[in-house]
Amino acid sequence: MDSFCPEIWPEDPVPNSQQACRECGLYEQGTRMVWGEGRPGAPIMVILDNPGAREDRDGNLMVCGTRQTLQKAAYEAGLDKHDLYVTYILKRRPVRAYAKEETRTICKRHLKEQLQTYRPSLLVCLGNTAVQSFFGDPKLEVKNMRGSWYDVNGYQTTVAYHPLAARRRPHLFPLLVEDLKFAEEQLKQLD
Ligand code: SF4
Repeated sequence: MDSFCPEIWPEDPVPNSQQACRECGLYEQGTRMVWGEGRPGAPIMVILDNPGAREDRDGNLMVCGTRQTLQKAAYEAGLDKHDLYVTYILKRRPVRAYAKEETRTICKRHLKEQLQTYRPSLLVCLGNTAVQSFFGDPKLEVKNMRGSWYDVNGYQTTVAYHPLAARRRPHLFPLLVEDLKFAEEQLKQLD
């Protein structure tokens, strides 16, 4: 019987030209850059606020809670992993306080380049932080925007709750599945 099992999705390596990026100062916090994971060029690009750890403290690969919940929700929504590429507003995970607005504004140029390179058909922005940053409006909230498509710089974009929020508040999980299903249905229409 087909059943869900979380797995380590292949990491999209950081381009050589960006490996030494120090533009925003976040490198000082010591976390490594994660460019993205899943299938580069997939029809749906999922945008999160920042990457979770892909390794535990001993350096062993692991699937963090955010990834587990996202993969499970995608599975329940009928999405195949090959339909998805996951990336972030920030390419490094902050572990201490940082200048949020300024840092996101600086790092977003990498996301812009990824969009131009991979040209996804649909975008799904997860969580208020990613939504506010990607849409450029600090007042936006996922709960008021779910279930619609928006044109953001020419990209057909929808929003959903952050997988970590859905993990911590289980009543949000079916809503995350519903929103990913919304994207899955739109993808079918485009085929
Ligand atoms: S978070 Fe983004 S801008 Fe900051 S150092 Fe990393 S890649 Fe560069």
